[in-house]
Parts: sequence; C-alpha cells; structure tokens
Amino acid sequence: MNGTAHAAIGAATGFAIANSMQTTPTTTLILVSLGTVSALVPDLDIDGKLRGRITLSHTVTRTIAQIIGTMMILYSLYEGTIEEKLRGVGIGVLMIILSSYIKQKHMLTITGAGVILGGVSLQELWMILFGVYIIVASLVSHRSYTHSLIGVLFFGYIALKLEHSLSMDGVFYTCLFAYISHLIADIKLLPFNKRGIKLFLPISSKEI
Ligand SMILES: [Zn+2]
Repeated sequence: MNGTAHAAIGAATGFAIANSMQTTPTTTLILVSLGTVSALVPDLDIDGKLRGRITLSHTVTRTIAQIIGTMMILYSLYEGTIEEKLRGVGIGVLMIILSSYIKQKHMLTITGAGVILGGVSLQELWMILFGVYIIVASLVSHRSYTHSLIGVLFFGYIALKLEHSLSMDGVFYTCLFAYISHLIADIKLLPFNKRGIKLFLPISSKEI
C-alpha cells in the first residue's frame, strides 16, 4: 500500500481514539497527527536494499529527514526548559540544513544519529530509542524487521515512553494501533499487495 493510504488510515485511527476518549480539540489534533506519522514509521526501512533492486530517490529520504527535523523542533518547543528548547531547536535546524547537503545513501542513518543526539540533549528516552529505531530501519531490508512483531513491540515501547513524556492519554494507543494498521495494510492476503510482511522475524522469514 502506498504512503498516502497508510497516512490516511493512521489519521483515522488517531481520530477514532480521540473520539472514544472525548478529548479536547487540541488533543484530537495531536492524536490525529501522531496517528498519521506512526502509520508511516514502518516504511522508514525504504533506504534498506529491496533485494538489491531499488535505489530510492534522494528527494524522498531528504524529505523524511526534514520532516523528522521539523518534528524535533516542534517537540522541543512543547517540552522542557528554555535551554532544552534552544538545544532541541538547534539540532532540528541542523538536521534540516545538513540533509540538504548530504547526497545519497546513509541520510536516514545520520538522521537517526541526530535524533539520538536530540534525545540525549533533552533527556528523553523515547527520542533516544526512536533514533535507534531509525538507524536500524535504515540498515535492514525493506518490509523486514520494521514490519514484524519485534518492530511492533519496540515501537510500542517508544509510544509508551512518549505518552509518559507528553502526559497525554491516548498517545500510546494511537501510535501503537496506527503502526499495526500499517502492517495489516501490507499483508499479502490483500489483493493489491504483491509482497507480504515477514511478521515473525527472526524466527521465520515466511511472508504472510
Ligand atoms: Zn510498509
């Protein structure tokens, strides 16, 4: 399934959870945004080799790096002391500028390193773990570990820590269900998917 469809399902997931919890308009907006982003996260592995065939366009990875940099800025403005805000914004701006200069390959790996740096600087465990997630995703092959149960567990833990940091109910469920919605939309049972996902890696590499 393509990115737009994944994003739409993620947004709907966030909206449904916000609705069921009767959140304020601001919280609803945040949950819809988090759902949209989380439903796209498993495809951060697009930089990994798709059986050596695909070479991803530079524009796509650059856009991803810049979106993550922007998210880092927004989060820093929302959380922490003035000093932490400045540091977070600085790292985010640096990521956006750097990604326009780095050519080809490894851009997502470097973005992950930037997110870890931001997490250490803001002392946010979820951000450090998300940086680790991005680095791993940038190195493994497409539709492998990020599209598996291990990926769900790892991202679910990040979502739990994010919910604690934001002190906002619904964050964990929104991120988790949006992530799972991506995996469901990618399974081979659906007629428009030529390939499935390897849900049980590393125990079994059978595509379902
Ligand atoms: Zn996918």
